[in-house]
Amino acid sequence: MITQIDHIGIAVQDLEAAMELYRGLFGVETFHQETVESQGVAIASFLVGQVRIELTAALNSDSPIASFLAKRGEGIHHVAFRSDAIEGDLRRAQDRGVQLINHEPQPGAHDMLIAFLHPKSTGGVLMEYCTEK
Ligand code: ZN
Repeated sequence: MITQIDHIGIAVQDLEAAMELYRGLFGVETFHQETVESQGVAIASFLVGQVRIELTAALNSDSPIASFLAKRGEGIHHVAFRSDAIEGDLRRAQDRGVQLINHEPQPGAHDMLIAFLHPKSTGGVLMEYCTEK
């Protein structure tokens, strides 16, 4: 079951510049920073209530974030929904005709398992399901 919005991923060109923006706007003092090599991303995140804002930059030109930035520029990249039973939620999505990008949960930031649903079958929204390991 989906239990809450976990985070909103925002694609940025320059992580430092994006952090400076949110420091100035919201007075964010500390960011959680992490590199996820397997996803090709470097992130800086902070909490707004229960929801994390996850600023995400590409680690290299093969990164999915690099192709997103090239096609669409900076902006909202994905919405991540927290699941308490990710395999079942993925199966349910697939049974309803949703195309999965990840059929099996993958390691993501914050020591979570994540899987993406294809935006072509979710009304143009790149959705991520995530769960604590
Ligand atoms: Zn995410």
